[in-house]
Amino acid sequence: MSFAIWEQVLLLALVAGSAALFIKDLTPKIRAIRAGDSDRPRTDRLGERILRVIKEVVFQSRVVGGRPVAGTLHALVFLGFMVFAFETTDHFLEPFHLPFLATLFGGALPAFKVVLAVAAVLVSVGILGLAFRRFVMVKISPDPKSYSSGIVAMMIFLLMLTYLNGVAETPLLEKANWWVHSLLIVAFPPLILRSKHFHILMAPVDIFFRTHRLGDLLPLNLDMEAMEESEEEISLGLEKLADVPWKMRMDFLTCVECKRCTEQCPANNCDQELNPRGFILEGRKALFLEPDSAVIGNVISEVALGQCTSCGACESICPVGIEHLQVLTGAKRAQALASGVGMVASEFLETTESHGNCFAKQPSVRKKLIEELGIPIFEKGKTEYLLWLGCVWSYNPDARSSLEAFVKVLERAGVSYGVLESESCSGHHSRRQGEEMQFQTLAGENIERFKDQQVQKLISPCPHCLHTFRREYPTLDGSLSIDSIHHSELLIELMRNGSVPLDGAKANGHTVTFHDPCYLGRYEQQYDAPREIIGRTGLPFKELGRRRERSFCCGGGNAGFTFQHEEEKRVDQERKREIKESGANLLVTACPECKMMLDATVEETKDLAELVADRMKPS
Ligand code: SF4
Ligand code: SF4
Repeated sequence: MSFAIWEQVLLLALVAGSAALFIKDLTPKIRAIRAGDSDRPRTDRLGERILRVIKEVVFQSRVVGGRPVAGTLHALVFLGFMVFAFETTDHFLEPFHLPFLATLFGGALPAFKVVLAVAAVLVSVGILGLAFRRFVMVKISPDPKSYSSGIVAMMIFLLMLTYLNGVAETPLLEKANWWVHSLLIVAFPPLILRSKHFHILMAPVDIFFRTHRLGDLLPLNLDMEAMEESEEEISLGLEKLADVPWKMRMDFLTCVECKRCTEQCPANNCDQELNPRGFILEGRKALFLEPDSAVIGNVISEVALGQCTSCGACESICPVGIEHLQVLTGAKRAQALASGVGMVASEFLETTESHGNCFAKQPSVRKKLIEELGIPIFEKGKTEYLLWLGCVWSYNPDARSSLEAFVKVLERAGVSYGVLESESCSGHHSRRQGEEMQFQTLAGENIERFKDQQVQKLISPCPHCLHTFRREYPTLDGSLSIDSIHHSELLIELMRNGSVPLDGAKANGHTVTFHDPCYLGRYEQQYDAPREIIGRTGLPFKELGRRRERSFCCGGGNAGFTFQHEEEKRVDQERKREIKESGANLLVTACPECKMMLDATVEETKDLAELVADRMKPS
């Protein structure tokens, strides 16, 4: 095709206009991001970050994993976009007689043209499928009224259509077709900045900077003297918008509004006010308010904040790297440390403060239990494993059967184990309530005990405590080096090496189902050990609908197991409904708090240790 000079000039003017509009709209967004401080190193472990971007952006792993059908359609559009980046460059250089593709591909150009044609068809299928889902299947659409999505979908479809027409043997209205294709492309950059399609630019960046693990909390520096001496105002959580760090600002602007987080949120599933997509989008609006505006009220309400169980389902499914848990914990820290009002679990915090455990029990109760069950005390330099009891196994009489069963298994397997003379609460829930001061105090007490006893290996039946010991204590004291494991991980090791033989004849009419605890599954990625243990019992097993990465919280997180929930529909009720519907008559749990929350849902509820102890061959 030949182009007149005026056409070349017009094209340059259009491209320059598009670029100018793009920069004009991008500038306030960049300014809003740059207004935030840094909350942590965000470029460490560079290789891991790059690999994550390749996996999640190039291979669209989270996009497809979260919603297989819509995700695959999205992946088609995305992959087509990558291929078409080459074609678009060539398209704009064509009027200037610069053969970009021919130079790049040489003799392989015809093959690449075939790839382009196939990509154009796949992108058309993908975008039409997504548009159908959004505007026709309105019941499952995240936002059927998103007109900008409709316009962008139509533009992408027209782009593909004009491309296919342009490369046809006898193109219709060839020159006009070329110009329509060009106009669609130059209209694209300003449009993406004014819609949720900003994520096309931002998602790879946001994913790159994301924390290395779910809900990665860093300790606050609570050195009072340093705070008093400091001339700068020290932030104690997300009190004001000025406290919102740059990554969180980027999160607010990157959200693609897909609603996956809200669909996963247990509180939202129970018609409660908490809405993860909602508070991320409120955050987007709030970025342009006065810096001293409050976060609670402008980003998330006090009521919604109190409904969060810290289950992590929202953050773990987000396809663009948004860190919901940093917002939630940051706001809770501001409640607990700065304003001191609005916390839902204040009674939990007061009891833990006064007793060192949330059951308001005296240490003598734990001591008596240890004596009654004949549990050995950990001996420095002699005992291999420290058995951590945690508050529920220490003080809740209903948990006695679980502890008794685990002790029976340890004895049968000849494991060298012992408990501490005294424990403080691990501080897990205090930290999730934002009470960083209480967390650090409790953690400090336990760390001192661990160090004093030279503990090297620790078994915890509680995934909350496990997560805290494994991930969070080392950030308080870098010299701490303890191999902490969940009791399911030890149980399966003992079963595999033959130390705990099971009696296969003991099938007794039970059909088992298993509830994945949030902090063992999503936070610690341990899904298989409990299933292998159940599998080895030979009992019929029924999976719950929501399981593994998509498990539904029991409602006990964020200290929820310690207080009466006032919502009309509670999270535990919804999970119990699902467990009942599974048809199983034995629910197996792997967390003392889940067991408390879900007890009596079906005929029997047992901890994994009880399941094993019941079927263990006598020695
Ligand atoms: S952590 Fe769980 S409860 Fe909290 S907002 Fe996310 S999904 Fe909802
Ligand atoms: S926060 Fe993430 S999962 Fe939620 S709507 Fe936005 S992009 Fe989707």
